[in-house]
Amino acid sequence: MNKNHPTQPSRRSILKKTLAVSALTVTGVGTLTLPTLTFAASLSKEERDAMTPDAVIEHFKQGNLRFRENRPAKHDYLAQKRNSLAGQYPAAVILSCIDSRAPAEIVLDAGIGETFNARVAGNISNRDILGSMEFACAVAGAKLILVMGHTRCGAVRGAIDNAELGNLTGLLEEIKPAIEKTTYSGERTGSNYEFVDAVARKNVELTIENIRKNSAVLKQLEDEKKIKIVGSMYSLAGGKVDFFEV
Ligand SMILES: [Zn+2]
Repeated sequence: MNKNHPTQPSRRSILKKTLAVSALTVTGVGTLTLPTLTFAASLSKEERDAMTPDAVIEHFKQGNLRFRENRPAKHDYLAQKRNSLAGQYPAAVILSCIDSRAPAEIVLDAGIGETFNARVAGNISNRDILGSMEFACAVAGAKLILVMGHTRCGAVRGAIDNAELGNLTGLLEEIKPAIEKTTYSGERTGSNYEFVDAVARKNVELTIENIRKNSAVLKQLEDEKKIKIVGSMYSLAGGKVDFFEV
């Protein structure tokens, strides 16, 4: 694809134009108005391929900052929908919990065509999730696997409290190894959110271990430094996505 194709303006040029006309302004009462980013187009192949895994992480950190400061990018979803119709070039695949309060794309301020998303209670991996991640990275070219746990996770609480219900019982079993591997000297119950959050964090670490152990495809891509596999925790209270080790 021609990078300078007239119908496919690069995101960078769009950003540049938007920023150029939206200078910082200070109102009479001293309120600082930050420029609004406009993402009219979804990621092109050239833009995505030019990003390193670290650049993708930085991109999400900036998106989460915009979310927390309540100045999300001005997404033109219909333009992104049209633009991505011929092909998708997402930069990352995100594994997060089904919790309605932790929607990965919103808290990272990502648009259409930017991320693959897998969601399952307690953000654990299994064969189908791994297969989806292998497609995202080895076939579609995503540069980052982001496992995102969150505070006050009901699935983690359920695992700690040995909840039992139909198929949920088996799912919660997948989280239980994180409970025993969590070092915590206080009250180890589901009603102690400090403990619940510590287990959720350990659960993210174990999910990443499982991804490396159970997917030779993804492990090889990581060893070749073509992708990064990174953990994170989303805070329901503060809205911050805390990236591990980066
Ligand atoms: Zn959860």
